[in-house]
Amino acid sequence: MSRYCSQCGKSRKACICEWIQSLTSNVELVILQHHSETQRPMGTARILTLSLANSCCFVGEDFSQHSQLNRMLSNDNYRHFILYPGEEALTHQQVISASQDKKVRVILLDGTWKKAYKMWQLSTNLHTLPLVRLPSDLRGNYRIRKAPSDNSLATVEAGYHILSLLEPNRDFSPLLEAFNQMIEFQIKQMPPGVFENNYQG
Ligand SMILES: [Zn+2]
Repeated sequence: MSRYCSQCGKSRKACICEWIQSLTSNVELVILQHHSETQRPMGTARILTLSLANSCCFVGEDFSQHSQLNRMLSNDNYRHFILYPGEEALTHQQVISASQDKKVRVILLDGTWKKAYKMWQLSTNLHTLPLVRLPSDLRGNYRIRKAPSDNSLATVEAGYHILSLLEPNRDFSPLLEAFNQMIEFQIKQMPPGVFENNYQG
């Protein structure tokens, strides 16, 4: 038997599968994960792809020539948005009213802020896509990740918030519950008092 769970890819004792619930959403999430993120013990993007059958995750840095992604982007039945803060970023209300006639895909950049910016910069196929932002008053529960500011969100939290805002009639809270279980497990693995200063991304 492998040390790792074949489902979630985590070590068997850190397996998160029992906390994962299958969820349905109209909005599809496409996670672009910086390759440096795949080595981190937390890897919260995985909660999204395990819970949401219509989500997917691609790993890399420059996605300009990524054929699967480009095929998705060229599908006219969808409108694509990148979840990224910016002056011109749309609010979720604007996304809803701009997308009445089409399905919505939201692209999440999974990496530190610096890496996410690098990915966006290099991936020229993303440059024409409109940005969407989350409300600025959201607070994350990423207690064991060194964050540039208090309101930095883990990828799973960002995914949870954008889905909940775009589809307010659905309950996506199992995503956060799985995330909380993951954090509890990580904290239990650390000696007392260490976790505040420890980079465990
Ligand atoms: Zn598992």
